[in-house]
Amino acid sequence: MKIKQMPTELANKIAAGEVVERPASVVKELVENSIDAGSTFIKIDLDEAGITRIKVTDNGDGMTDADSERAFLAHATSKINNEMDLFHVRTLGFRGEALASIAAVSKLTLKTSTGEEAGTILALEGGEVVERNKSDARKGTEITVEQLFYNTPARLKYMKSLHTELGHITDLLNRLALSYPEIRFEAIHNGRTLFKTSGSGDLLQVIAQVYGMSVARKMLPVHHESLDYEITGYIARPEVTRASRNFISTIINGRYIKNYPLAKAVIDGYHTMLTIGKFPLVVLKINMDPILVDVNVHPTKLEVRFSKDKELYESVKQTIRTALRQETLIPEIEYKQPQEKQHLTQEQFIFSTPKEDNKQPVQKETIIKETTREIEPFPMESVEQQEEALPRRQPSESDYFEPIQKEEMEAPRKMRIPLIYPIGQLHGTYILGQNEEGFYMIDQHAAQERIKYEFFRDKLGQPANDSQQLLIPLTFEFSNQEALFIEAYKEDLEKVGLYFEPFGEKTYIIRSCPNWFPKGFEEDVIRDIIEQIMKDEKINIGRIREEAAIMMACKRSIKANHHLTKDDMFRLIEDLRTTTDPFTCPHGRPIIIHFSSYELEKMFKRSM
Ligand code: ADP
Ligand code: MG
Repeated sequence: MKIKQMPTELANKIAAGEVVERPASVVKELVENSIDAGSTFIKIDLDEAGITRIKVTDNGDGMTDADSERAFLAHATSKINNEMDLFHVRTLGFRGEALASIAAVSKLTLKTSTGEEAGTILALEGGEVVERNKSDARKGTEITVEQLFYNTPARLKYMKSLHTELGHITDLLNRLALSYPEIRFEAIHNGRTLFKTSGSGDLLQVIAQVYGMSVARKMLPVHHESLDYEITGYIARPEVTRASRNFISTIINGRYIKNYPLAKAVIDGYHTMLTIGKFPLVVLKINMDPILVDVNVHPTKLEVRFSKDKELYESVKQTIRTALRQETLIPEIEYKQPQEKQHLTQEQFIFSTPKEDNKQPVQKETIIKETTREIEPFPMESVEQQEEALPRRQPSESDYFEPIQKEEMEAPRKMRIPLIYPIGQLHGTYILGQNEEGFYMIDQHAAQERIKYEFFRDKLGQPANDSQQLLIPLTFEFSNQEALFIEAYKEDLEKVGLYFEPFGEKTYIIRSCPNWFPKGFEEDVIRDIIEQIMKDEKINIGRIREEAAIMMACKRSIKANHHLTKDDMFRLIEDLRTTTDPFTCPHGRPIIIHFSSYELEKMFKRSM
């Protein structure tokens, strides 16, 4: 006989490889068990990134003496009884594999009590119970995992540096803390506190603990409720970006998950507000009936499947868009008090959230005459050399205040940026402006791009299907690969009104194109469409229109180093105010920066 059944011990050791990949996976399983046991306090104590010792202590339900030994059997779980339960999983664990797997590759001690009877102490080595004792009756569980992978040296060798392993653990604990603001977490590494949360239930507080105060101050709350989903959480203002998607945390029914389309829905919610290649920082909690989500995809991966995925992605996108629209999104310059009395040039500026009273700026404009002082723009170069505060000028009224106020009183629509009065131009590039709220700098090119983009976007919004003859037919030479795609997607191209007429190898002639193609940009739009086919293997006309609008806006906008009269500047600001998203250009760069009156006074030490 060649075929034999493996001894349980060996089978567990092999299975362990799937569940226990590295110290972080042990921490994950242990902490998730503590969460499932209803704990409100979980302490994680590590030595050498968990390789020498991981100790997790909780104040959860604990286990009875009888259960404590069963917990280490393969497929032993208290969380699922039958197949139906699989569709209603509300706990983090349910496979009953973790403890058996961890015990198989370590020296493990369990101390547990339900608080009603004397507790149990079990010591295991390589999955075998080697010692049994009674313990005190403190309710809760403490599991210590020592010498991880001591009996699987190959696995041990595979461990990366302590630094890397600790990085994985920290990442995991951050996510768990964000998922459970009502649980108090404490993590210790080599005797030093790594990280602590208060367990107050306030998500924003955890965000501050995980990402820092300066980030937490720039988060906007979101809330959306529909029949199927409840979406809550915080999203960062568009100026807070990161270089990867890793800062988009999505938590479904308390379970941190990774789902690419969901992250994409978040990014789409920001639309053009993000700079290309940048990603937002978001913590979204989505609650739904467990029947709508399948968590049984892979034992350790963070993947899930949704039944009503399209609806979910759309709700997420809209929730984010609405939250961003509602806010005034001008980055504000905050003046940071220097540690000691230092030279002015060493002081730093950071972006911060606009103050509460900026939210409805338009209504306040009527008092502008009393409070505004006319300040001449001061050359930036000399600001740095300036050691003493400038003398304050006498208020003088500007002649264009009057008509604007009248217009403003008549305009019923809510503008997202306040009235701003131009006072000059810097380097032919930035418009300097003011109002009672302080001082503003506006990037004139970015502002015009936004205005034109919205104009073209609206114009291209409802394209007619009819096409028109081109006066001069366009000739295209494509690469081999492009030509292949053109042949393969001939039908789709014809559906959007593009007829590629072969003209020798790889060369095509286009004699007509849809009416909505912006004049003079036909060639660019057609190239865009081909690019899209190659990338996405389909044509998305909505996106092509969007890109065409961005392209036209960019090419037709005033560039830097262009002198503007005060009237030009004023018209530009007014046009900007009528746009729906006046804060970033279509590429996601900021358009306007605000120095509040208060910050200015602080900078010149006029107020403390
Ligand atoms: P699963 O979590 O998938 O059920 P585990 O192997 O992780 O499987 O745990 C097995 C069982 O041990 C759990 O179902 C639970 O009943 C019990 N258990 C594990 N850890 C704890 C804990 N910290 N507190 C109370 N019970 C626990
Ligand atoms: Mg478990």
